[in-house]
Amino acid sequence: DKAVIGVTGLAVMGRNLARNLARHGHVVALHNRTAARTKALVEEFGHEGEFVPAETAEEFVASLERPRRLVIMVKAGAPTDAVIEEFAPLLEPGDMIVDGGNAHFADTRRREAALRERGLHFVGAGISGGEEGALNGPSIMPGGSAESYQALGPLLESIAATVDGTPCCVHVGPDGAGHFVKMVHNGIEYADMQLIAEAYDLLRQGAGLAPTEIAEVFRSWNSGRLDSYLIEITAEVLAHTDARTGKPFVDIILDQAEQKGTGRWTVQTALDLGVPVSGIAEAVFARSVSGHAELRQAGHGLPGPRAVPGDVSPDDVEKALYASKIIAYAQGFNQIQAAGAEYGWDIDPGAMATIWRGGCIIRAKFLDRIRGAYESDPARPTLLTDDHFTHALGDAQDAWRGVVATSARLGIPAPGFASALAYYDALRADRLPAALTQAQRDFFGAHTYRRVDTEGSFHTRWESGRTEEPTN
Ligand code: NDP
Repeated sequence: DKAVIGVTGLAVMGRNLARNLARHGHVVALHNRTAARTKALVEEFGHEGEFVPAETAEEFVASLERPRRLVIMVKAGAPTDAVIEEFAPLLEPGDMIVDGGNAHFADTRRREAALRERGLHFVGAGISGGEEGALNGPSIMPGGSAESYQALGPLLESIAATVDGTPCCVHVGPDGAGHFVKMVHNGIEYADMQLIAEAYDLLRQGAGLAPTEIAEVFRSWNSGRLDSYLIEITAEVLAHTDARTGKPFVDIILDQAEQKGTGRWTVQTALDLGVPVSGIAEAVFARSVSGHAELRQAGHGLPGPRAVPGDVSPDDVEKALYASKIIAYAQGFNQIQAAGAEYGWDIDPGAMATIWRGGCIIRAKFLDRIRGAYESDPARPTLLTDDHFTHALGDAQDAWRGVVATSARLGIPAPGFASALAYYDALRADRLPAALTQAQRDFFGAHTYRRVDTEGSFHTRWESGRTEEPTN
């Protein structure tokens, strides 16, 4: 039998994806630069389905039915280009190369354009959920042509996670749209994790609860509106005791968060697009601060608050967490909409919320609300205007402000909560001090300003009589 799909790159992700495909009854061709991995897969998991192992690129390509579907799961960056260059010459017009790695969407756009010239479809597919997701059902975000999705969609949907019978896989949009959306997913994941970390810290240092008690708090939150994978695993982690020392496990871990770069990409791209994603940015910077051991060492003796007034209640923290989470997601979805407009992708934001409900790290009940919000108004400028979210934000007002104020009074850093609140208040404001900023810019750089009462641009001659003149 010829294989309906092939996977090259059989490290954890590729191997599990191939097994997932085979378990769903698809004949899967296998290839890896180092043939030992291919052999090991067949030896260990050959009984799970029908595999067609190949040692050479030529054998691999020959084992695929046409049009060929070839999935690349190798290290992102130069290795992906190398593998594309190895296979593209062996393929024929209409064949499809799927890149399931964590590519930067700009690379995906470049590769798609180059392969389209050669008559090949290139599909950058974001795959979330780690190795566990790849095996048991990931959330899949494929970009590329609509035509290629016709041939790939049913296969990908068959191995994706499902929620309420709906697969967590949908055609996101052309060229790099899939990898873009996967990147923003990861950015939102950073923000969500940071907010959870702040909630933990406030309960620990502010409310004086022990990790096991906080685990219980998170467990109870997980049966409410915060029900999500990240809250669930947080409870598990906090309940865990270190076998070696008997201490809470969270206390024996070095407090320096690392990052692989997708959060940073999200913020860099947001800056280019001009989208304020302060929640994601604060999360990336919070990890960065944590990792600067020397800087923290230098700051260690600096004076802190004198009095320690203020109390923190778990209920208030829950409200602050939910409100801040709404802000972070609203910002991330705005970034997706902005990129859609910039690149002509026509992304349905509600569909993204739908495919993130399962299989990925940010899977949560909450996403059903976001799906509903975009269903009622796909073009809404912000999620905050959806009735459910507006109500939740209203309900959180005292708690949210109280938690931010208390964190400041106690000297517990809560940049995620604080910046979410500042963003919220900026959107609410009648007037922002940006007017003053504009006046300063005109003062020192003749950058001009607009008036509230007349059309057009103006410049004031600040040095000579402060006379105003129109500039256009
Ligand atoms: P790695 O990123 O560790 O990559 C290892 C694989 O890449 C091996 O199969 C290796 O072949 C192959 N490879 C590396 N360089 C080359 C090259 N120059 N030519 C040919 N093959 C090469 O594997 P993972 O499974 O962890 O991840 C695969 C992709 O999926 C990555 O892009 C990653 O970012 C992404 N991803 C990973 C997730 C995870 O949880 N790990 C989650 C979601 C996405 P060889 O065996 O010969 O060395």
